[in-house]
Amino acid sequence: MQADFDSVVRKLVDDAHLPREEILKLIEAKKKELAGLVSDVGAAHIIANELGIQTLPSLKTVSKIDDLRPGMSAVDIVVRILRVFEKKEFERKGQAGQTGQLASFIVLDETGTTRLVLWGALANLSDAAKPGDILKISNAYTKTDLQGRVEMHGSNRTRIALNPDGVGEDLPKVSAAGSYSGGSGIAKEKEISELLENEPTQVSVRAIVMKIFDQRAPFFETCQTCGRSVNLCAEHDHSTTKKALILSLLLDDGTGVIRTTLFKNAAESLLKMSTEEAEKLAELAGNPLVLYTAANKVVGTELVFTGRVKKNAVFDRMEMIANSVSEVNVAEEIRKLEKELEEPAK
Ligand SMILES: [Zn+2]
Repeated sequence: MQADFDSVVRKLVDDAHLPREEILKLIEAKKKELAGLVSDVGAAHIIANELGIQTLPSLKTVSKIDDLRPGMSAVDIVVRILRVFEKKEFERKGQAGQTGQLASFIVLDETGTTRLVLWGALANLSDAAKPGDILKISNAYTKTDLQGRVEMHGSNRTRIALNPDGVGEDLPKVSAAGSYSGGSGIAKEKEISELLENEPTQVSVRAIVMKIFDQRAPFFETCQTCGRSVNLCAEHDHSTTKKALILSLLLDDGTGVIRTTLFKNAAESLLKMSTEEAEKLAELAGNPLVLYTAANKVVGTELVFTGRVKKNAVFDRMEMIANSVSEVNVAEEIRKLEKELEEPAK
């Protein structure tokens, strides 16, 4: 009971930002007010309740992402990591030479996904954690991002256990999210402004389609034998060739813009039609540019593009060759699918 009392008082000191003596005074006053009907612990819980601070074990139910609201101060939650962003260092305001660091993640549970931002030493978790890992988080807080979405933050009061035994095993798996990266493992999620000239691995960019370049027919001729562009294949016979789709977009994620080319499957998924269907439509219309009517529907939409980043030496700019495009809520779709697949087995 004394341990309980101490932990509640500690929580009040932390969360209410009041000195311990002040908290003890409030508790004493409450006991008097209630004429000895409550214990020290009971009075401490009542004070906490009055201050809007969660202390009772019964109130401290583990939250789900869907329950998160802005301004929560003591969130306990178990989530799975969907994406890990690179750790960032920044100069502390008004403290020249003093740097801070933060790392962010996209995490999910069976109710949704959210961004998790970790500050200070906690940010080092991004070195060890990878998609699919479980995080048991206590004492996180919430706030809204610039778009008004709720996100979770962790600072020095927050405790995080990485892959604790027997916890979170029932959370949706993210292995299926390999589709984020065209199937070869999870790509590193980056902001456009952070992209390097020659990214060593695939990257994912979550960005809004600003423009689709629509002056040229969205097809190129490929070699029937190897599937490469006829311009790149000098080995095979090209008396008959196969059409493949190509789309060129401008993406913007708020940190920068990048030109991105989508070939074949990636272009198909953006157009939501197969190459054969696209060919047929172009033929029926008598003009391949008609396909941009379909493509332009995604202008203004936020999507996740995964692929390689390269420097275009001719134009001296970075470009992305995307090999997959996913809806931002793809994780949710995967989860639904997994649930449906699991259901009959139960
Ligand atoms: Zn060839």
